[in-house]
Amino acid sequence: MARIVMKFGGTSVADIDKIRNVAQHVKREVDAGHQVAVVVSAMSGKTNELVSWARQAAPIHDAREYDTIVSSGEQVTAGLLAIVLQSIGIDARSWLGWQIQVTTDSAHGAARIENIDGEQIVERFIIGQVAVIAGFQGIGPGNRIATLGRGGSDTSAVAIAAAVKADRCDIYTDVDGVYTTDPRIEPKASRLIKVSFEEMLEMASLGAKVLQVRSVEMAMVNNVRLFVRSSFEDPLAINQNRFTGTLICSEEEILEKQVVTGIAYTMDEAQISLRRVPDVPGVSAAIFGPMADNHINVDMIVQSISEDGSRTDMTFTLPDGDVEKAMAVLDDARNEIGYEIIQSEKGLVKVSVIGIGMRSHAGVASTAFTALAAKGINIRAITTSEIKFSVLIDADYSELAVRTLHQKYGLDSK
Ligand code: ADP
Ligand code: ASP
Ligand code: MG
Repeated sequence: MARIVMKFGGTSVADIDKIRNVAQHVKREVDAGHQVAVVVSAMSGKTNELVSWARQAAPIHDAREYDTIVSSGEQVTAGLLAIVLQSIGIDARSWLGWQIQVTTDSAHGAARIENIDGEQIVERFIIGQVAVIAGFQGIGPGNRIATLGRGGSDTSAVAIAAAVKADRCDIYTDVDGVYTTDPRIEPKASRLIKVSFEEMLEMASLGAKVLQVRSVEMAMVNNVRLFVRSSFEDPLAINQNRFTGTLICSEEEILEKQVVTGIAYTMDEAQISLRRVPDVPGVSAAIFGPMADNHINVDMIVQSISEDGSRTDMTFTLPDGDVEKAMAVLDDARNEIGYEIIQSEKGLVKVSVIGIGMRSHAGVASTAFTALAAKGINIRAITTSEIKFSVLIDADYSELAVRTLHQKYGLDSK
């Protein structure tokens, strides 16, 4: 007997037929004698619709009311799945975030889970009842509903798994595992059998939205074994001995270490350049302090110094959607920073190569630079760290770059 948390994403619960299919996956585990809790997302497209209703009501609105609205999608699917489970003879009941007491901080719209009382769920395990939990939500200060940021049901599932000390957390989605890159843009992407927490954290942070970044962080900290698998495989034909998904686990469990594990990309990047800034101590603080104060997330930073060392050009990247705000903030700070020219450009993409093998292999990044140059792709900025590097390029070349690198590092499926 194992204790399992099963999470089903939006496409897996998109309509009543799909919810019936999910119920069969749950039944399989219950019939095998396991203790099961289920975490559900809203039906696919539902959260987008709710977000757009909130925006239509008023473009600038109370974030607590936004959370009241957008959390409702998960409430519907939790109730529906509980009914369907009951209809096939499985004892089940729904739970909302406030009922379990998933407590969060006050960052409405992107709240962090602070605590989960696993007690009630464990009591249900003992009487053989399946807890069907609405993902993406908790309860913040002042008794207000809070949501966990887009894709947050993954984090709900991992947090519940940690709270009830589950043996496994199975994330069911519309792909049968984590791939070497997004299979939607590279059909030759291949499924990874095992990925380390660290690599998955980088892949998710750098654009592989198959798992929410915080869910991977939380799994790593609490050592929750995560399986990513498809809900579209026949629930009764999945042979329990033949595992088809991807296991995300600690590095020690991975025997065969690849130099490069995967390639991720983030669209909608932008670049701002400040030209001819006096090169004096404090200039970076003068530029990036106001960015931070205005909650603008700066990513890559490139500085180039003039020949006599008196002036510098400072270029940095940020999300496309923040450019107007950043330009206004930098305009206000113009006298203090002392730049002569400011330029911005949208429509860029960041492509990243990830692999723990980079720690011990030299020259991994230079292979990419040569391969991209051979395809005529211009690199605007580069960042590197221990197990990954990223290049900023024009969005028109994003697919070509991903495919080129995927092939170059030997990741194409055989
Ligand atoms: P869910 O609704 O189940 O949470 P998501 O849409 O959030 O599903 O995540 C699944 C999607 O993630 C896949 O359909 C796939 O296009 C995308 N994806 C991006 N990168 C990867 C990757 N490296 N491996 C697998 N899927 C990926
Ligand atoms: N329904 C939420 C979203 O679309 C949470 C999730 O699906 O994980 O972002
Ligand atoms: Mg998701």
